[in-house]
Amino acid sequence: MSSTAGQVIKCKAAVAWEPGKPLVIEEVEVAPPQKTEVRLKILFTSLCHTDVYFWEAKAQDSVFPRILGHEAAGIVESVGEGVTELAPGDHVLPVFTGECGECAHCKSEESNMCSLLRINTERGVMLNDGKTRFSINGKPIYHFVGTSTFSEYTVVHAGCVAKINPLAPLDKVCVLSCGISTGLGATLNVAKPTKGSSVAVFGLGAVGLAAAEGARLAGASRIIGVDLNPARFEEAKKFGVTEFVNPKDYDKPVQEVIAEMTDGGVDRSVECTGNVNAMISAFECVHDGWGVAVLVGVPHKDAVFKTHPMNFLNERTLKGTFYGNYKPRSDLPSVVEMYMKKELEVEKFITHEVGFKEINKAFELMLKGEGLRCIIRME
Ligand code: NAD
Ligand code: ZN
Ligand code: ZN
Repeated sequence: MSSTAGQVIKCKAAVAWEPGKPLVIEEVEVAPPQKTEVRLKILFTSLCHTDVYFWEAKAQDSVFPRILGHEAAGIVESVGEGVTELAPGDHVLPVFTGECGECAHCKSEESNMCSLLRINTERGVMLNDGKTRFSINGKPIYHFVGTSTFSEYTVVHAGCVAKINPLAPLDKVCVLSCGISTGLGATLNVAKPTKGSSVAVFGLGAVGLAAAEGARLAGASRIIGVDLNPARFEEAKKFGVTEFVNPKDYDKPVQEVIAEMTDGGVDRSVECTGNVNAMISAFECVHDGWGVAVLVGVPHKDAVFKTHPMNFLNERTLKGTFYGNYKPRSDLPSVVEMYMKKELEVEKFITHEVGFKEINKAFELMLKGEGLRCIIRME
């Protein structure tokens, strides 16, 4: 038992007090974990675009004051009542979507949408008692997607924690806790391209480039990267992207450009932008008869997906996924093993690193579209 078990821990956390305002490093109190919960010491966290959306709160409803962050790696500090699968000292990745192990989704081989622990962006409290574990002078500070990793210590449901190989370097594998697994799984588990096929990837941030990496691992022969930011193209070459399309360079819809390049459309497409027009293009650019499009980007709250029903009648399939259909507790440890066996490289996704005090720099980089993942060191 650690000396802090059962006690309130005072530590530093980056608090989002208001939408779009720089985070403020504050001293927060973190209550001990309750039944089915664990308290984690976060060592590394990184920034994903989903944090930025909910911080901006332009496109999404959001709850403030809040501790954001969901891509991270850490060590279990203490466990609450009834937690048997995790113990203090375990190396773990917290995940924004959980796995209770008991519900119809957890029992299904097809779904990772756990009824109890699936992503919920509006809930800022713990399920157990509907309260927060974070506070400042008694004032509650809300949670984000059950993880709130922009804090030296956080409390999460044990079902949202993957126990991983203790030899895995946490400063690298933290990016597997959201973006890289999401993109990789969207291709390998959902789009499932066959060897020699063509794949279009919309959005060449870390999630999209991980989707491209999945296409490369699956043996796709053409990987077409689509982005509005030409600076992304140079970086994307390292990820096996074979051709590039900037929709701004054409005066016709990008789906038509891709159909012309591929004799009627790509076999698979994966959308990783969050922009609804890119989602529509990603669907309409797949080949009739067999094409499959997969949506990954988190859309604007008022977005409406509009396409002619004939596109479906012509035997195109549209799918969507959270977390690349991986079940966090069952599947994530094996994604970490892919990295340990050098089948998957994560270093090339990590372009920046900052200390915790400089966390706002990571936001600036993402808003400018510079780099892929920025690791935030907690110490
Ligand atoms: P990012 O900002 O690093 O990358 C997004 C890229 O999309 C950028 O390069 C941008 O230039 C490009 N883009 C934007 N609009 C475009 C358009 N209309 N056409 C072509 N390219 C366009 O973001 P990221 O961290 O890689 O995340 C990508 C998306 O995936 C976000 O929407 C994020 O919220 C979402 N996401 C979803 C899941 C999930 O489980 N479904 C998990 C993680 C992230
Ligand atoms: Zn994410
Ligand atoms: Zn479940």
